[in-house]
Amino acid sequence: MSAKKILENLMVNIVNGQVDVIDLAQPLNEETPVIHLPEQFSNTGGFKYIQLSKYNEGGPAWYWNDFVAGEHCGTHFDAPNHWVSGKEGDAVDTMPMKNMIGEARVIDITEKSSQNPDYCLTIGDIVAFEEKYGRIPEHSWVILYTGWGKYGQDKEKFFNIGSDGMPHTPGFTKEASIFLAQERNVLGVGVETVGTDAGIAATFDPPFPNHYYMHESNRYGLAQLANVDKLPPRGAILIATPLKITNGSGSPLRPIALVPKS
Ligand code: MN
Repeated sequence: MSAKKILENLMVNIVNGQVDVIDLAQPLNEETPVIHLPEQFSNTGGFKYIQLSKYNEGGPAWYWNDFVAGEHCGTHFDAPNHWVSGKEGDAVDTMPMKNMIGEARVIDITEKSSQNPDYCLTIGDIVAFEEKYGRIPEHSWVILYTGWGKYGQDKEKFFNIGSDGMPHTPGFTKEASIFLAQERNVLGVGVETVGTDAGIAATFDPPFPNHYYMHESNRYGLAQLANVDKLPPRGAILIATPLKITNGSGSPLRPIALVPKS
């Protein structure tokens, strides 16, 4: 089938509902949870509205706001230059456009992470997934389905701070991160939690290994995804287009997934 025909068919299927368009973004507002680093580090201010007018003296016929937002707030994109290991890699404005679109492979660790909130994806989990659903292709997004998206608006459950003062949320082992970046050449990983590493990953060696190894290999990250439970293990197309911030290290965005009904 010609590429022209494929796109025509895709559009017909979107319009008639045979292909669902899934919203993978959490709501973005002043209550949106943002990562909190220890006090010695600079923290993001999150998202703030500054109202300019709302059908009033500032603008009698119009409503509009300015907003202030961290590059890494709410549902957002992590570019390779976010991390010291990827500082020569892509920024959000220099990444190839075709890297904004990839097939999604969704690895379900909901049961393991409900039993152990510190659970980190292993190479064994990836191998088991591939035995069932086929090899993870190059240029695909690997989405870690933990069930954390349902806590997206509930800061207490979302961060799950323990008696040790640390957040306890799932992530990736160092080995699985290296495997996906170097053996599977994925576009990147996506997670429902505040960042692509586990809550306690500051204590890992190296700290935040998923950031370290994915970005070192010029791979990307997607954080705070919603509606991951609506994605099949394979077969969805994920589109993630960060804002074109000059030399940006990341950007809030509204990723979407195209999911066939059958
Ligand atoms: Mn980030």
